[in-house]
Amino acid sequence: MSDICPNVAKCPIFTGILKDRTFTTNAYKQLYCEAGLEGRNKCKRFQCKQKYGKVPDNLLPNSIKTLEEIGRENNWL
Ligand code: SF4
Repeated sequence: MSDICPNVAKCPIFTGILKDRTFTTNAYKQLYCEAGLEGRNKCKRFQCKQKYGKVPDNLLPNSIKTLEEIGRENNWL
């Protein structure tokens, strides 16, 4: 379906890394993964993948870090 994020198959958030936190995972899915282009454009994981082609495993969709900070922390800049 076109309104689901193209990264879902490989995204640990979507595939259930937060196993014991179903409520949080479902909220993320509703807000970002299954909310069309507008939703995923707000997701920091999606933005990071767009910019760097990769995403730190522990980055949350609602992280307040800037892409710049994420890049620096991971030595991608
Ligand atoms: S958390 Fe972000 S990158 Fe991962 S599937 Fe959802 S919208 Fe896509």
